[in-house]
Amino acid sequence: EQWLANPNRYDAETYKRCGKSGLILPKITLGLWQNFGGVDVYETQRAMMRRAFDRGVFHFDLANNYGPPPGSAEENFGKALSQDLKKHRDELVISTKAGYRMWPGPFGEWGSRKYLISSLDQSLKRMGLEYVDIFYSHRVDPDTPLAETMGALDQIVRSGKALYVGISSYSPQMTREAHAILKDLGTPCVIHQPSYSMLNRWVEEDGLLDTLSDLGMGCIAFSPLAQGLLTNKYLNGVPEDSRAALGGSFQTGMLTEENLNRVRALNEIAKRRGQTLAQMAIAWVLRRPEITSALIGARHVQQLDNSLDALDNLEFSAEELIEIDKYATD
Ligand code: NDP
Repeated sequence: EQWLANPNRYDAETYKRCGKSGLILPKITLGLWQNFGGVDVYETQRAMMRRAFDRGVFHFDLANNYGPPPGSAEENFGKALSQDLKKHRDELVISTKAGYRMWPGPFGEWGSRKYLISSLDQSLKRMGLEYVDIFYSHRVDPDTPLAETMGALDQIVRSGKALYVGISSYSPQMTREAHAILKDLGTPCVIHQPSYSMLNRWVEEDGLLDTLSDLGMGCIAFSPLAQGLLTNKYLNGVPEDSRAALGGSFQTGMLTEENLNRVRALNEIAKRRGQTLAQMAIAWVLRRPEITSALIGARHVQQLDNSLDALDNLEFSAEELIEIDKYATD
């Protein structure tokens, strides 16, 4: 039976221009780093992707290595695409990246032309796509000349395998250099993907956001919930079905009494705003004009729905921001 997408999915117009480009992104993007791998339940993933699209989330963020096992998130996304979303291909923004270890040997990671181009070819195959909308250099390669990495991004756009290119976790200085090289080549660098949350403010402190607005680049902030810490889930212990309990990417060292006290205080502010803490954490990264989209993860549809309801209240008073600053520190 054919799935029919919600015809009203664009009515709220919850999207934003990505810097000074023609690219438009939903204010909230769903990332497939975790919970979309071969080890997870496909029908849960499929339900989240359908739900996201139905609620105006037309951008899905992937990378070559998302899983586990690496590559399986792209395979699952390709499956959902062929089953449900394919006819909406021209509405979708699909992003992938290369930079982290994907296969053995010296060309299985980092930023060589050889790695980036063969990795994207593999990603396209896994997803069953002819092109992605955004392709990223996932991290700076300290040994490959930046001109080679950016030259590969330019080649990828010219060969039609990506429409736009971006960079992830580059410093302000490296961002300026990358942007300048791509500009010379005639391919704009339209987006940066850094981490950013109430507990991780390096993009403000190191001047990345200023740099991006200077360059006219957009910005998509990953892990705005600090991987779940900026929700109410850890306030009364560690639930069984949480990242902290399951082990992996979540640094359980973050669950100090000091951090939990800050999360408690932030949770009280969120309550006064009539929001969950997850919703306030998302609204808070979106308060900055430089941020195009908040890039969230979700374990199931209920979490996704809760997070998407952040869009119901994105406004902060000056007093609220000052109070949040007391607790929102690295
Ligand atoms: P988040 O900070 O949004 O963390 C997601 C986790 O928070 C969920 O798995 C869940 O944890 C919990 N959560 C989500 N919504 C709620 C809610 N409403 N209420 C309570 N708990 C909630 O982001 P991620 O760390 O998942 O990263 C998001 C995306 O960013 C990735 O999928 C990826 O696309 C991108 N990313 C990019 C990186 C890069 O280097 N460029 C690095 C990391 C991420 P639980 O599972 O414990 O229930």
